[in-house]
Amino acid sequence: PVYLDCSATTPVEPSAAAVAAKFTEKDYGNAASPVHDYGLFARTAADHARKLVGQPAGAGADSVVFTGGATESNNLAILGLAEEGTRTGRRHIITTAIEHKSVLEPAAAMERFGFRVDHLPAGADGRFDVNRLAELLRPDTLLVSTMHVNNETGIIQPLKETAEVLAGHEAYWHVDSAQGYGKEFTMLTDGRIDMISVSGHKIYAPKGIGALIMRRRDGRFPPLMPLMYGGGQEQGLRPGTLPVQLIAAFGEAAKLAMRDGESRRQKCIEYRRAVLSVLGELGAQQNGDERLCMPHTVNFSLKGIKAETAVRALKSVIAVSGTSACTSHNPMPSYVLGAMGLSAERVECSLRFSWCHMTPDADWERVKDIIRKLRSGI
Ligand code: PMP
Repeated sequence: PVYLDCSATTPVEPSAAAVAAKFTEKDYGNAASPVHDYGLFARTAADHARKLVGQPAGAGADSVVFTGGATESNNLAILGLAEEGTRTGRRHIITTAIEHKSVLEPAAAMERFGFRVDHLPAGADGRFDVNRLAELLRPDTLLVSTMHVNNETGIIQPLKETAEVLAGHEAYWHVDSAQGYGKEFTMLTDGRIDMISVSGHKIYAPKGIGALIMRRRDGRFPPLMPLMYGGGQEQGLRPGTLPVQLIAAFGEAAKLAMRDGESRRQKCIEYRRAVLSVLGELGAQQNGDERLCMPHTVNFSLKGIKAETAVRALKSVIAVSGTSACTSHNPMPSYVLGAMGLSAERVECSLRFSWCHMTPDADWERVKDIIRKLRSGI
């Protein structure tokens, strides 16, 4: 079957896999022991990768804290401000109803420590409602955490508008860019964002590596406390021996994202044409505003066909998902589509197709056949 679940994770670029193999099999030194060549090669590779990983976000190497992935970066950005909030009495957090669980859950955990969390609602277009942000902001708002691109719908979020509302306010602004980093560059260089979460395995690097990219304000990075203590690596924010093989592969993937961004994008746009024409023939309803969508994702509903049923029936032809991978072990109806105001029935019948520049053509005739058969109950 053709893999159409690139929003869950992407295939690994061969050159990124080769880099990972090199630092696994040959240059396996510890980056913290540059006293010999093994350690020195590892240190040099990690330093180089740090520079490359910062680039798609318009950030320098010293802004990059490597983590185990965007989940960890999100947790660090949110829980990491607990001490500062407690010290200064700023105990208010604003996030949105359509965030990934790795933002919603640490925010909820902060409530147990006396913080208050407000959620911006979302509209049918798939964007969080930035107009409500000004109303919710308070003098004691410590953190605003919003996503860049939604993982279920592919809808690009209103970051520019958010920056305008936040101008002049003290609140730290964290952006979960797991789905945008390395693909949609324009917003990340915005001078108002304080922290950006990114993930390697969404941009063709192996799994288990990500970063929190930080910006200095008045000469200082956001006052995060570490979630773990140890040997002081990563500016004391993420101690532990650096996984150099993953870091180097992530660097390679970031380099390719910069170099090939435009040609990848064009390939995705072409692929989308085929997908949308098939969906049109099937009478699918697209979820979220198509004009705001990334070119490699489509979320849609097939009236009367439950997502679960469709995923199973299509499995031998295309590999797709009915909900986000992170919550699919717990098949609850999508809270993201729910927050956009879709009916429960439509949410239950929603599928996500997501592809990339490497995705081969699928057998769309068979896809159409299968859906038509499901519809006629054969
Ligand atoms: N945020 C978003 C928007 C995501 O799509 C994902 C991955 N599904 C994550 C965070 C978590 O990323 P990771 O798998 O790197 O922990």
